[in-house]
Order: sequence, then structure tokens, then C-alpha cells
Amino acid sequence: MGTTSKRILIVGGGTSGSVLAARLSEAPDLHVTLLECGPDDDTYGADVLEPSQAANAWSGDAPIAVNVMATETGAIPMLQGRLMGGTSAVNGLATLRGLPADYDGWAAAGLEGWGWSDVVDTFIAAENDMDFGRTPIHGDSGPMSVRRWRDEEMSHAQRSFYEAMLERGEPKVTDINDPTQLPGMGVFPVTIDRTGKRMTTSRGYLTAEVRARDNLTIRVNADVAKVAVEDGRVQGVVLINGEHVPGDEVVLAAGAISSPTLLMRSGVGPGDHLRDYGVNVLADLPVGSTMSDHLGPGIPYHHDGPRGGVGGPAQVLFVGASNGVDVDYHAFPVAPAPTEESTEFMMAAFLLRSSGRGSVRLGETLDAEPIITAPPLPEDGIDRLRHAFERIAAWERSDAARALGCEPAEPHDLLAPDAVSKALERLTISYYHMTSTCPMGSVLDADCRVLGIEGLRVADASVMPTIPRGNTYLGCVMIAERVARKMMAA
Ligand SMILES: Cc1cc2nc3c(=O)[nH]c(=O)nc-3n(C[C@H](O)[C@H](O)[C@H](O)COP(=O)(O)OP(=O)(O)OC[C@H]3O[C@@H](n4cnc5c(N)ncnc54)[C@H](O)[C@@H]3O)c2cc1C
Repeated sequence: MGTTSKRILIVGGGTSGSVLAARLSEAPDLHVTLLECGPDDDTYGADVLEPSQAANAWSGDAPIAVNVMATETGAIPMLQGRLMGGTSAVNGLATLRGLPADYDGWAAAGLEGWGWSDVVDTFIAAENDMDFGRTPIHGDSGPMSVRRWRDEEMSHAQRSFYEAMLERGEPKVTDINDPTQLPGMGVFPVTIDRTGKRMTTSRGYLTAEVRARDNLTIRVNADVAKVAVEDGRVQGVVLINGEHVPGDEVVLAAGAISSPTLLMRSGVGPGDHLRDYGVNVLADLPVGSTMSDHLGPGIPYHHDGPRGGVGGPAQVLFVGASNGVDVDYHAFPVAPAPTEESTEFMMAAFLLRSSGRGSVRLGETLDAEPIITAPPLPEDGIDRLRHAFERIAAWERSDAARALGCEPAEPHDLLAPDAVSKALERLTISYYHMTSTCPMGSVLDADCRVLGIEGLRVADASVMPTIPRGNTYLGCVMIAERVARKMMAA
């Protein structure tokens, strides 16, 4: 390391952190240290690498943080990966971008450089689309290899939903990431390599060649407790073992729950809330006050015989309802065990358009788990979900579902007037798309710099001002790519 190198610390080697580390270390005048609290990607087991085993990771086979999120009707678990690659190592592999209007909304809110025409090239540059190759909307040379599940890779349950929807006359979408084709019924693009193994951002971006760079240090099992700030300027971070790691700039990429929690523990957050914990308030900002997520009911089913296929938990989806692209739903097996004699799975319906806000707050003590409250369901949520229930009811009655012996875990009538509200009371789940806890516009500027603190940025799902109408992980890749570029240009 040259003596003039600027020392950059990245907190979290997850979805966004791995991208940041790879991109920032391309600049020889930067020295990049990545601090990840979990283990490295050479510890990945079958639950990470084999898409069909992904749901095993959710029950704790892989290093995962399980928090509790309070909803209007109870409490539900909330998961995040705790290993290199982060949640991209344990998610459902679905690789969607959201809609142009989502990003145009960011730009319209005054966040220059975040409109669709600004970000689409970054999405294209990040991918190597093994189905479409290079097209006006796809790339063939990015670090993340992408393709769609093939018919024979689908589980029987998901295949039955796909067939039932096409039989019902729903439009077939060959590319869910082509907004001009929506709404309709399609197959998930997923991030896997040529052998069908999961491609996490750590595997995709932090290749052996990148890791060999002299100006990149990766420290795993390094749990950051807080950011050290003096006179309004970042000095580095402090690990939970008390070690001080010095840095000229710090980028928090610890995810939508940990990044705001770390900020608050460091004195950046809602002043009244922090003072309750005796924290010296360095910047009074609405950190953790505007959390978004996609929520909806997950209805349990089972069918006779094995699950079938080798695809991940989310394989097919219907996007759209009465009002443009709104509801997103698909079948996914809860306990994928391709060799078992009977298969449990779930039909999930999530509201993609979501304006309510939840929160992340410090817990009982400063170091305790944070308190997480889900956003309320939108007022028109029940009406919107009825369209999803109509389609799930149509699938229940379809030849494909009957031939498979699909039965709900409990008898129900999905078309009853109170079916949606009853399902929401007992079966609400999270799509695990927590975002917007340190948003650009109120906590960060458009370059993702924390307002009022020099040398501190956030770059992960937290920074999204509003949640896109799509799965969130690819958005994090895009954000990390763009923040890295801004930092290198600074
Ligand atoms: C079960 C599940 C399924 C999902 N399915 C999909 C899907 O199919 N498609 C999709 O697009 N999205 C999906 N998501 C959501 C998506 O994966 C996330 O939105 C995205 O990966 C978040 O990326 P991130 O960079 O914000 O955080 P993460 O990827 O979670 O990275 C945060 C990193 O920071 C580390 N860290 C945290 N605290 C500290 C600390 N104090 N010190 C050091 N390191 C720390 C963590 O270990 C982790 O590696 C799913 C999420 C879950 C949980």
C-alpha cells in the first residue's frame, strides 16, 4: 500500500459490500478493507450452492440472522444472510430490476442520476445473460451470470401454476425484466452459474484475481459495533471486540436492518430516540423511520409425491393485477426435499406497490436486537389481493393442480368475501425485501453520503428512497456499482 492511499472501510461483505469491494479496489490509489461479520464464501454448503436446497438455509443451516418483525396482526420472522455474499447467498435467487417508473420516481423526488435512463446501463453491465446475450436491455459480460429456469428444472407445484395461468389465458412473458411485456405470467430469471450453482455477489465479483489485489483486504468474522466519528468526520470503525480499525472513509453495506442500527449506535439517528439511550447525537436524522417491505399472505398447500425439479424456491410468477403491475405472486415449496414422498409448498401473493412505512429502532439496550415494525398494509391492499386470490383459486381448480393432488393445508374458500382479510390475519409473511431505512433524500444525499458527517456513506438496500416493484437484490447490486463509481470519481 502506498503511503498516499485513501483507506476505505466497507462494513458488510454482503450483496452490496462484495460489489463495492471489487469495484473500489480497481482504483490503485484506494486501499479497501472489507469487514464482514460472517464466514467467507469457501464455507458455502449445499444449502447455499444448490438452488433446490435454499429453503434449508432459511431454517438455519447457513449463517443467517433471524429477527422478529411486528406486523399489524402479529409477529413474523425476518431473515438476512450473515456470510460473504450476504443475503444474496440465502435468497430465492430471483433476479429482477423493478420497473422504470420506480427509478423515475426517485429522480422526480430530486435524486439526480437515479432515473431509469441513468440506472438501466448499470443493470445491463452487471449481468451476463446466458439466455438472451447482449441485447438493448441485457448484457453478456457482467460478473453475475443469469438465466431463467427451464421447464424440466421446475418443481411440480410451480409448473402446475404456470400451466394453469397460461391455460386461463394470462399473457406469457418470456422476459420478466422487459417492462414492455408486463403484466403477465413468466419464469424467474435467476443468478446461477453454468453448472446451476448459485452465483452470489461474492462469487461473482470477488474472484480469485480480485482478491489477489494488493490494495484489497478482506476480514471475515469481523463484527462492527459502531462507526468512530470525531468533530463531524469519520475516523474508522470499532469492532465488538474493541479493536479500532482506522479509515478515511466508511461505507456501511450491512443491510437494511444493520446499517441503520449501526448509524444509531454511532450517534446518527432520531435525536430523541438516541438520547433515551444516552447516545451523544452527532446528526439528528430520520434513520430507521421509513422502512418498506413487500408483504402478503402465504397460503400453505401440499401434494402427493416428491417436489420435482432442481430449481430454487421461486421459479414462476404472475406479475400484475387490475391496476398495472401491482401484485406479484408465485408458488414456492416451503421445504424443498426433492426425494420426499409428499411435498409442502406455499402460494404467496405480495403487494408490490407499497407506500406504508415501518421502522427500525434500537432495542431494549443499545446492544440488544433492534425493534422492527413492518409497514402497514395499504388501504386498498385487500381489494388488490382479491385479484391474486382469484388466480390462485383458478389454479386450485385446474387440471394441472388436480392431477398433482394439490390440497390446502386447511380447507378454505379463496373467493369468500372475507378470504383475504382472514388470510392476512394468520398468514402474512414478508418477501424479505426490507429497504429504505437510510434513504437518499432524508438521511443521505444523492451520492449516498450521510448528511452532516464527513466521510460516511451507506450503500445497500437501506438507501432506496422507495421500494421498487420487484425483488430487491439486483437493485442493491446496481446501487453498489453506482456508489463505487461516484467514490472513485470523487
Ligand atoms: C430468505 C430471503 C429470500 C429473498 N429472496 C430474494 C430473491 O429471490 N430475489 C431478490 O431480489 N431478493 C430477495 N431477497 C432480498 C434480497 O436478497 C436483499 O434485499 C438483498 O440481498 C440485501 O442486500 P444488502 O446488500 O442490503 O444486504 P445483505 O446482502 O444482507 O448484506 C449485509 C452484510 O452485512 C453483514 N453485516 C451485518 N452487520 C454487520 C456488522 N455489524 N459488521 C460486519 N458485517 C455486518 C452481513 O453479514 C451481510 O453479509 C430475499 C431475502 C431473504 C432473506
